[in-house]
Amino acid sequence: TDLAHIRNFSIVAHIDHGKSTLADRLIQETKTVADRDMKEQLLDSMDIERERGITIKAQTVRLEYEADNGEQYVLNLIDTPGHVDFAYEVSRSMRAVEGSLLVVDSTQGVEAQTLANVYQAIDADHEIVPVLNKIDLPASDCERVAEQIEDVIGIDASGAIQVSAKTGVGIHEVLEAIVTHLPAPTGTLDAPLKAMLVDSWYDPYLGVVVLVRIMDGKLRKGDRIRMMQTGAIYPVDRVGVFRPGMMPVDELGPGEIGFITASIKQVRDTKVGDTITTEKKGCEAPLPGFHPSVPVVFCGLFPVDSNEFEDLRDAIEKLALNDASFSHEMETSAALGFGFRCGFLGLLHLEVIRDRLEREYDIDLITTAPSVVYQIHMKDGTLRELHNPADMPDPSHIETIEEPRIKATILVPDDYLGDVLKLCQDRRGIQLDLTYAGSRAMVVYDLPLNEVVFDFYDRLKSVTKGYASFDYQLTGYRADNLVKMQILVNEEPVDALSIMVHRDRAETRGRAMVEKLKDLIPRHMFKIPIQAAIGGKVIARETLSALRKDVTAKCYGGDATRKKKLLEKQKAGKKKMRQFGKVDIPQEAFISALKMD
Ligand code: GDP
Ligand code: MG
Repeated sequence: TDLAHIRNFSIVAHIDHGKSTLADRLIQETKTVADRDMKEQLLDSMDIERERGITIKAQTVRLEYEADNGEQYVLNLIDTPGHVDFAYEVSRSMRAVEGSLLVVDSTQGVEAQTLANVYQAIDADHEIVPVLNKIDLPASDCERVAEQIEDVIGIDASGAIQVSAKTGVGIHEVLEAIVTHLPAPTGTLDAPLKAMLVDSWYDPYLGVVVLVRIMDGKLRKGDRIRMMQTGAIYPVDRVGVFRPGMMPVDELGPGEIGFITASIKQVRDTKVGDTITTEKKGCEAPLPGFHPSVPVVFCGLFPVDSNEFEDLRDAIEKLALNDASFSHEMETSAALGFGFRCGFLGLLHLEVIRDRLEREYDIDLITTAPSVVYQIHMKDGTLRELHNPADMPDPSHIETIEEPRIKATILVPDDYLGDVLKLCQDRRGIQLDLTYAGSRAMVVYDLPLNEVVFDFYDRLKSVTKGYASFDYQLTGYRADNLVKMQILVNEEPVDALSIMVHRDRAETRGRAMVEKLKDLIPRHMFKIPIQAAIGGKVIARETLSALRKDVTAKCYGGDATRKKKLLEKQKAGKKKMRQFGKVDIPQEAFISALKMD
């Protein structure tokens, strides 16, 4: 296709504002998929993505559209990952297209992810077409929301298209706007191949599939390509486009988006943002801005049943095949036995992987406290990265400990502002900004990532009854007074419960943890002290009293079925417990003990 008849775009939106539904309507309206084959949320393929309404891998679809001017266009939609954990991937896929549809729910207005995503689009120099969705709903207020887009984002929304992705109203106008308002890509056919590696994933039949955007030159089956960052060379086996299923084509030219396969063994060999050129007579300079994404949140994953360690290893290796940003290495814990220390791009990424291990691979897991990466400056001048509080060096050898900080943006209705400010303040936040966007406040805070990784988002949702939206970006490292706090159960340290904490917050956290654990650990035939300690010094203590009689004695009278049920429940519960010394600790204790409420 000649460049003038190509349009490449992405859709940016806050979660639930209708991005997937709109994509479905565009696919349907352009008859890319026959009506009888149309199923909902065509681009969100993985179950977990569908359930949580997030996209993790960039999906793409090529639409063919005959515009009102009688010309035939190729429209490439890249559905970018929709979450802050994947910000780098989002920024790369944004660079692969020239424009964005900014979808805002006209019953809700601009939210935190609307802002985060649209700023990415603006950074990538996109032409932006505002689309006001859900106009079929009575609460729709297009005028107000258009005004808000102008006030808060600062782009012209006078020509915003009013649509209902549900009923199909306005979809034709969206397609026309793509053709008339978005620029055609530029590029040179006769130049050496220069393509961006937008994303990659593992396909059980084809091996690694690579999503590419051609900048210059062309890419054909049989070409020998070179990845400029990794230096690896591969012969191309297949070239194709997504309609939305894979369809082979002879070649991809400038401005086009498609896929290749090239007997690449693992996704680790394909770095998002890398530049692909030909082995010989390649382009000179790679595309700017490449940096590999690195894990920022670490936690230990251990099987509840130590016999499942091999199953866990297999499952983790399978998942890692498809996810280059997820790292894992074997870990042994005195208390938990064999497991893995895993690194993630963020909390959601962690949850997604943990859910998949439990659901798809049916492995019961103990997840240890998530920890961020600390930079430890030693007195001897060396720098160490701490991924696991258990590896904390002797404090007398430490000069300073630096922790990662974030800039968090929260949009919240005025009524809940006080609670949000208190929450941020409690988490060692520093307020940077407070402005109003319509009837809602927009607060910007500098926060330690450590205070956010655990349950910040849950707390935010609960104090604002779900009305707040939240987004963050990492800003850098800063030194603070940080210490390692240990938990001792029956005088024995449980390393999986060790956390890094600010010294001023240690007593509060420690007390909360031992109180929680007292409720979570079942009573035994002996007394169990539960303590929090820093170094050798105990800062909080609870005692779980000994069990005097058989539990079933609690049952009134002789209700036999009730008694049986209780015993069964105990048995099932037993499966999910691990022994520490002489004490059984249930699986949920590891996570629940850390929640602050
Ligand atoms: P995404 O998270 O941005 O991909 O949002 P979805 O496309 O999954 O939509 C979120 C919810 O809003 C779903 O329940 C959709 O059915 C619904 N929805 C999307 N567009 C419309 C619309 O135009 N009108 C109405 N009434 N509901 C819509
Ligand atoms: Mg979606």
